[in-house]
Amino acid sequence: MEHFQCRRCGTCCKQPGFVYLRDGDAVRLAAHLGMDIYRFTETYCLLLDRKHLALKKNPDETCLFLGPEGCSLYPARPEQCRDYPVRWKTERSAGYCEGLKKENLSGGRGYTLG
Ligand code: SF4
Repeated sequence: MEHFQCRRCGTCCKQPGFVYLRDGDAVRLAAHLGMDIYRFTETYCLLLDRKHLALKKNPDETCLFLGPEGCSLYPARPEQCRDYPVRWKTERSAGYCEGLKKENLSGGRGYTLG
């Protein structure tokens, strides 16, 4: 996976599931959007199980911040997005991620989460 190259196809941004925010993500994203942290979390975040902050998403599960040019938060994107698919991926990832398809064709190896 050391040679993995994102093809910027944006398919991972359309998958079901949540983007959980880790320490520092919300502060960085709020600053990127020019919002204070309270307004950012109220507008764009959900609190799951009363303890996990995650980004809200569109009704069709696509990311709210996916635009015609790709991720509109790219320089400030959450850690979960930065880590995909090098540090984590799912069993379905190889079926849609253009970068992984290319990696698999060239004999690269990675690891899979659930
Ligand atoms: S699915 Fe893979 S190649 Fe496409 S944007 Fe996401 S990480 Fe990049």
